[in-house]
Amino acid sequence: MDMKTPTRLDALRVNGERLWESLMALAKIGATPKGGVCRLTLTDLDRDGRDLVLRWAREAGMTVTIDKIGNAFMRRPGRNNALAPIMTGSHIDTQPTGGKFDGNYGVLAGLEVVRTLNDHGIETEAPIEVAFWTNEEGSRFVPVMMGSGVFAKAFTLDHAYAATDIEGKTVRGELERIGYIGEQEPGDHPMGAYFETHIEQGPVLEDNDKTIGVVQGVLGIRWFDCTVTGMEAHAGPTPMALRKDALLAATRIMQDVVNAAHRHPPHGRGTVGMVQVFPNSRNVIPGQVKFSIDLRNATDALVDQMVEEVKSFAAQVASEHGVEVKIEMVSSYSAIGFHQDCIDAVARAAEQLGYSSMPTVSGAGHDAVYMSRLAPTGMIFIPCKDGISHNEIEDAKPEHITAGCNVLLHAMLERAVPVNTDITR
Ligand SMILES: [Zn+2]
Repeated sequence: MDMKTPTRLDALRVNGERLWESLMALAKIGATPKGGVCRLTLTDLDRDGRDLVLRWAREAGMTVTIDKIGNAFMRRPGRNNALAPIMTGSHIDTQPTGGKFDGNYGVLAGLEVVRTLNDHGIETEAPIEVAFWTNEEGSRFVPVMMGSGVFAKAFTLDHAYAATDIEGKTVRGELERIGYIGEQEPGDHPMGAYFETHIEQGPVLEDNDKTIGVVQGVLGIRWFDCTVTGMEAHAGPTPMALRKDALLAATRIMQDVVNAAHRHPPHGRGTVGMVQVFPNSRNVIPGQVKFSIDLRNATDALVDQMVEEVKSFAAQVASEHGVEVKIEMVSSYSAIGFHQDCIDAVARAAEQLGYSSMPTVSGAGHDAVYMSRLAPTGMIFIPCKDGISHNEIEDAKPEHITAGCNVLLHAMLERAVPVNTDITR
C-alpha cells in the first residue's frame, strides 16, 4: 500500500460517476428492450456478469475465492489479516423482467468502496470483502436466497444442488457448466460484520422524501391457505335467509386480513392475493372459496397477534353464516431485527454525510437476513422510483445511488478501522 498524505476521513467520498458507469455496464449483460435486465441465475449471461464483476475486482487488487455453491468473495487485505473481514454484498442475478439496480447496486457499491479506498491509499485494520451470493431471486431455482442460505446453513448444500429448473437442469449441473463451482466450503468463512445496500423496493422513502433508509430489520411473515365451505345452491330459488354462501363469508374474512394490518400500524401488512371460487358459475351460490392470507409485521409478537385476530374473526364469521372455515399455515418466517451497532453505524454515517434519513423496515427478504444469523448485520436503503422493482422500469437516481454508497463506505470504515487517516471524524 503506497503511503499518501493522510486523508481526512470525514471528507472521504466515493466516485458516484464511476459507480453509475459500472452499474450501466453490468446492466448491458442481459439488457431487455424495455430498459431492464434478464440475467437469470446460473445462465450463460449470469456467467458473463460474474466474469465482469470479478475482473473489476482483480483490477482493484482484490483476491477472489468461490465456494461450492458459487458464492464469490472479493477480498481487499487489511493490516491485520487475522481479523474477520468486514463484509458487504448482495446478488447480481435478476428476475426475468428485472431491473438494473436490485442486488447489482449492493455488489457494485461494495466494489466502489474498495476503489475509493485504493484512490486514497487508505489501509484498514480488518480486511474488507465484497460478496455476491448465488440465486438470491429464486426465479429459476427454489429456494430464494440460496447461496446465502447455504452459507448460513439454513439448508444443506445437497438440498440446493438438487434444485431443478423447469427444463430439469440442476443447480449443481449448471454451476459446473458455467464454471462457478468453487472449492471453498460454504460458511467456512468468518465475518466481522455485514452491511448490504439495496434499493428500497417500496415507496416509503420516496413518499417521505428521505435519501437513506436506516433498516431496523425485516418483517416477520405468516402465510396461510384459507378454505371456506358452505353449500352450493341455485341462485334463483334459494332465499337469502336460507343460504350458506361461502363467498360472502370469505369476503368478510378477506376484509379482516386487511383490517388486521390497519389495526397494527405502521408496519402491519395484510394481503389476499389468490382467490378461487367453486364452482365459479354465474347462477350458483358459491359452495367453496379458497384464498391465500399473507400477514406481516415488524415483530413476531405483532404478526402473531394479527393472526389470532383474523382467526377469531373467521370463527365468528363461520358461526354467523353456518359455514366451515379452515385456516392452514403454509409458511412462517421470523421477523429479523438487525444488530443495534450496525443500525447505529448506518444512522451515524448518514447524519455525518448530511443526508436525510429515517428508520425503515424491509418488507422483502434479502441475503442480509441470513447473514444476520452469523454476524452483526445492517442494511442501507435508498429510494427507487415509485417504489417499483422486479420490473424492467425499476429506476433509481444517481445522487441516491452515490449517497447510499457513501453511507456504506463510512459504516464499513467504522468497523474496519482505517489506519493511515486523520481519524477525527
Ligand atoms: Zn435484491
